[in-house]
Amino acid sequence: MKIPVEIICTNCGTEAFLNREPVYEGLKKTGEELSCPACGFIFVSEAEVPFKAHAAAPNIFTDADRSKAVKVFDEGENKSICRYCADYVVNPFMQFCSRHKKEVQATDGCPQFSSAPEKPSNPLL
Ligand SMILES: [Zn+2]
Repeated sequence: MKIPVEIICTNCGTEAFLNREPVYEGLKKTGEELSCPACGFIFVSEAEVPFKAHAAAPNIFTDADRSKAVKVFDEGENKSICRYCADYVVNPFMQFCSRHKKEVQATDGCPQFSSAPEKPSNPLL
């Protein structure tokens, strides 16, 4: 609660530590007054406070989301390639898709991918 929060004041542009003053109505704390220590500008609500961290956040979040999305995408790719498909059959001469009756590569993929069972199935069954 008492951790200094860095802001970049929207009013005066100063980088400062947010002033957080409890507001009392009688003896009851009704809220907090958030203000800029440099110019005294009062922020109406927490959402109005120009947190310094928040100013940089959009880029950070974008990068994190992007790399996460890419990672998930890669995993999905790996799992839906012919190599892992139940219809993927390998013989000494070729790799074959038993669903499409055509030669495939281990790294090929298709919308009809079906997960191979955990244990390798007997291709004769
Ligand atoms: Zn200010």
